[in-house]
Amino acid sequence: MDLPTIVRMLTLLAQFERYPLTFGPTPIEPLPRLSEHLGGQVQIFAKREDCNSGLAFGGNKLRKLEYLVPDILASGADTLVTIGGVQSNHTRMVAAVAAKLGLGCRLVQESWVPFPDAVYDRVGNILLSRLMGAEVQLVDEGFDIGIRESWEAAIEEVREHGGRPYAIPAGASEHRLGGLGYVGFAEEVRAQEAELGIRFDYVVVCTVTGSTHAGMLVGFAADDRSRRVIGIDASGTPDQTRAQVLRIARNTAELIGFHRPITDDDLVLVTDYAYPAYGVPSAETSAAIRLGARLEGMITDPVYEGKSLQGLIDLVGRGYFPAGSKVLYAHLGGVPAINGYSYLYRNG
Ligand SMILES: *Cc1c(COP(=O)(O)O)cnc(C)c1O
Repeated sequence: MDLPTIVRMLTLLAQFERYPLTFGPTPIEPLPRLSEHLGGQVQIFAKREDCNSGLAFGGNKLRKLEYLVPDILASGADTLVTIGGVQSNHTRMVAAVAAKLGLGCRLVQESWVPFPDAVYDRVGNILLSRLMGAEVQLVDEGFDIGIRESWEAAIEEVREHGGRPYAIPAGASEHRLGGLGYVGFAEEVRAQEAELGIRFDYVVVCTVTGSTHAGMLVGFAADDRSRRVIGIDASGTPDQTRAQVLRIARNTAELIGFHRPITDDDLVLVTDYAYPAYGVPSAETSAAIRLGARLEGMITDPVYEGKSLQGLIDLVGRGYFPAGSKVLYAHLGGVPAINGYSYLYRNG
């Protein structure tokens, strides 16, 4: 480990103001029954980003939003405008932040998921966003992690009605400051490793709009571990996701003044588990969700974390991680969405 580089990274991140929305460092817990079930050769731990806040069930988006809030407050905006799928966790978290700051909230929710559950647009994340007072607009457009016309139109509409919008792109990813939160995650893991006297060989993370993985990649580049971050694609559009992660990682590295450029080689993205489509669980995804729930009482969702858990389980089974490895599964949240899949899990 290169100590000066790490110390420098901490200083680089400290240039940016952070508005606390989370409880503090998230717990790391061992998953002994899952590790044992998968053969006992690999020790699996979870970093519980899903338990990071009292704001509307928390999750990874809050770590990113902590770095956006100072900019939101400085801008004088009165309405947050963002976009996601019908069961978006990100839009739920933006609604919570808006409520907490006393701002208005306008959410564009597109039909990103071809899933026919009768209550899909009534329960889980969208129910919570409505409850927190957000103005929810359902739009009949398919999945796309890029910049969307419907979002740009919503921003314009807020302006036309005399409001002062603050625009947050999908997942807060393509925002200038969107990658900083997960640079901080890497710092936090390093501090916890020192405390616990262990070192993780791999971090497994679910990747879709990209800034979670991108931030980690930059953060772990400080001790040459960017390739130890194993992204599990859940977008089903991996070329776009790969390009977006790299773009955000490069922009983030440049923004903080990181000493070396990020290259294509820094990114590991496994694309085998997103099938059949974004937001649609395969039989293997559902099996992973049940396994995590039954062995560890750890709940994951069919859109994101169920797929990264499926990937983790499959990779352990294939011997991807050498015996003796310690693997940190980043549990990024997202559980409320499982309510939208009530029929699928009606019998457990
Ligand atoms: C948004 C989200 C992800 C993906 O993070 P990105 O930064 O969009 O790649 C993974 N898991 C959960 C629960 C999420 O809400």
